[in-house]
Amino acid sequence: MPELFGGVETGGTWCVCALGSGPGRLLAHETFPTTMPEQTLDRIVAFFAARPVPVAIGVGSFGPAQLDPAAPDWGRVAATPKCGWEHTSVAPVLRDRLGVPVVLDTDVNAAAVGEQRWGAGREAASLCYLTVGTGIGAGLVIDGRPVHGLVHPEAGHLRIPHDRRRDPFAGACRFHGDCWEGLACGPALAARWGVAPEQLPDDHPAWALEAEYIALGMLSIVLVASPELMIVGGGVLERSGLLAMVRARLRELLAGYLHTPLLGADIGRYVVAPELGDDAGVLGAIALAQRSQSHPPPRRRSDVRADVRTNRRRGSSGADDVVAP
Ligand code: ZN
Repeated sequence: MPELFGGVETGGTWCVCALGSGPGRLLAHETFPTTMPEQTLDRIVAFFAARPVPVAIGVGSFGPAQLDPAAPDWGRVAATPKCGWEHTSVAPVLRDRLGVPVVLDTDVNAAAVGEQRWGAGREAASLCYLTVGTGIGAGLVIDGRPVHGLVHPEAGHLRIPHDRRRDPFAGACRFHGDCWEGLACGPALAARWGVAPEQLPDDHPAWALEAEYIALGMLSIVLVASPELMIVGGGVLERSGLLAMVRARLRELLAGYLHTPLLGADIGRYVVAPELGDDAGVLGAIALAQRSQSHPPPRRRSDVRADVRTNRRRGSSGADDVVAP
């Protein structure tokens, strides 16, 4: 039997746990509602406690969350809109209660890793996994590594152009009002139009506006990160015809500036649907756990500072001697 790894995706609505080594090789898989933290963590612990011990567990968490394993608050969820979860410690609790190594990333980074390992991104060294649903999130893998940073990318809260004559809606983000998520996530659609998005007919003007907003946010990601592939999913994007509208609008916004067929006539091969469906996050979490056995966590700025101090004590000149990671 191959080595077993655990995967956990804590989503805003659902929590998914799995044990195995990849798609089609899962020993167990369970989905349950994300409720209050203690109750949800108890269910995750119970899922693993009743089964063979995994080598490591990967967690894809909604964020923002502290991902730096060297930070004292590693694993803690920060100012999340998810009621009751603010300042909850997820990964350390699982590590301590289950006694196995736990690696943590964002839910969208986990999904990006999963799609790259087993899904639509198998041939891409860099990709973006974008989800538009209860919120908007974008996971980034560049050169095979999920992107972190000072915190981690939070592309859902990009500011995008908002023409208040066309769309007087003030926005639904608790922090920013009319950021990308505030204008284009599912709850924003519901608040703007007064009905659930699934009740809006295909020919409703809501969808052209939605395609405009999704394409505007994607444009920033394409221009800043230049991923080889955009994998886009989430409940809102399941609307028939919306993906085609997004591709067309993104191509218009790019205006032929970047000369590559994938951003022109072949944009249908650039902006694609996920292949792992609802399991992208939990499978990606398993992939993160597997990866953690062979890839040490990236060095952070705090590590470099520590190295500078060490070098100075040894009498060297300091920062210039620090070898880049
Ligand atoms: Zn926001």
